[in-house]
Amino acid sequence: MVVVGGGPGGYAAALGLAQRGLRVELVEAARVGGTCLHRGCIPTKVLLEAARLRAELQRADALGLQRPAEVGVQWPELQGRQQRVIATLEAGLRQLLAAIQNAPAPRAAAQPSVSVSVPTVQATTGASGRP
Ligand SMILES: Cc1cc2nc3c(=O)[nH]c(=O)nc-3n(C[C@H](O)[C@H](O)[C@H](O)COP(=O)(O)OP(=O)(O)OC[C@H]3O[C@@H](n4cnc5c(N)ncnc54)[C@H](O)[C@@H]3O)c2cc1C
Repeated sequence: MVVVGGGPGGYAAALGLAQRGLRVELVEAARVGGTCLHRGCIPTKVLLEAARLRAELQRADALGLQRPAEVGVQWPELQGRQQRVIATLEAGLRQLLAAIQNAPAPRAAAQPSVSVSVPTVQATTGASGRP
């Protein structure tokens, strides 16, 4: 099976198919994780987490706590944290896909391997399970 796109839809499909014993090739044009990991869910949640904590801190004096007059935003640090969270999750995902790729050789006769050529594709991540 060939899965085009390494976003949440694609990698979940590739992992699920490989776990069911199919040989899978996952083709990704950019970076595994897709919109969710690189531009959507994850980066926005990092910002939301910081915004929520900042709002909490700003009401600290109502709880009898001392706080600075202003809880400032350190934008470069916040962006750095975003990139670290993304990198950690991307590495975990790559490890998961590599583990499937390195699964033991099949016991039954091997099926023909899949070769893919898609003009827009810049990078390919293989995720082959047992046939
Ligand atoms: C700002 C923002 C916040 C979001 N927050 C949430 C949230 O909190 N919770 C939530 O559930 N969802 C959220 N989403 C939605 C979520 O990102 C998408 O639902 C999810 O990414 C869709 O996954 P997908 O695999 O279908 O597509 P994508 O994640 O878009 O992945 C598609 C992948 O296919 C690759 N690709 C495209 N064409 C080709 C090709 N021809 N060859 C090879 N590869 C190709 C792309 O490079 C990409 O990596 C958010 C989206 C945005 C924009």
